[in-house]
Amino acid sequence: MREYKFKYRYQGKKGPIVPVRLNLDDTFNFECSKDLPCFTRCCYDAYIMLTPYDVIRLKQRLDLNSNDFLAIYTTLGFIENTELPIPVLKMLEDEEGSPCPFLDKENGCKIYEDRPSTCRYYPIGAGIFHNKDASSDEKFFAIIKEDHCEGLNSKKTWTVRQWRENQGLEPYDEVNSGWVELILKRKSLGPFCQIPDKTLQMFFMGCYNVDEFRRFVLNSKFLEIYVIEPERVEKVKEDDIEALKLAVDWLKTTLFGEGILKIREITTDPDMVEVEP
Ligand code: SF4
Ligand code: SF4
Repeated sequence: MREYKFKYRYQGKKGPIVPVRLNLDDTFNFECSKDLPCFTRCCYDAYIMLTPYDVIRLKQRLDLNSNDFLAIYTTLGFIENTELPIPVLKMLEDEEGSPCPFLDKENGCKIYEDRPSTCRYYPIGAGIFHNKDASSDEKFFAIIKEDHCEGLNSKKTWTVRQWRENQGLEPYDEVNSGWVELILKRKSLGPFCQIPDKTLQMFFMGCYNVDEFRRFVLNSKFLEIYVIEPERVEKVKEDDIEALKLAVDWLKTTLFGEGILKIREITTDPDMVEVEP
């Protein structure tokens, strides 16, 4: 059984917190409030990895293209136990520490409706076990007990299932499912399989830089090589989630040979199939 953690946030400078594992119907106590003395404490010095849907929600919220969003607000991280890249929210520096760029110190999160999935899950972390012996992968959750968080002393009880629903995580999981599959596939290849830099760049562009991927589809030989329905191309032009879905299909096809995207018959030269981003 392999472990994959992708939504895990901790106070980086203090080191990782030992999580307590939970299943969907396990309970935990928690209530966050503006009246608590720790209000916004969790928005300092946080290590927040961004999923593809987080990037889409944030770049739309900020009215930026994905290239600019990534350049301004993120730095490069790596998904645990892989060389796969992932954008990480870049904290600011001020006299009080390292606040999140979206923190309003008086009123809390300025982008609350579009806050990343890691922030939604908090104080829960979520991940997936890749189980070689089972037909499906198993989701797991963990409560992350950080000393500063007084909300954990509340008497209010949640199951993980209730918390996920309360925090609006369902669409995040749905949109990110293809990306999660890609990571699990990479994991299943084992640590000794080296992925070339160019492939890692393709992964980054396809998963996180949706506007760059769209430009690549429309301005390269992509549409000469792959058979993509015209209606799908139109959707990709307009809709970031459709562009992400096409990117995931392309990555599954090119990185893992799944043949999800069909190649036009005239393309017999294997070098042609490897489109340069
Ligand atoms: S995105 Fe919002 S909730 Fe998340 S750390 Fe930043 S300010 Fe806090
Ligand atoms: S209760 Fe926890 S999550 Fe809420 S503001 Fe305090 S530290 Fe943050």
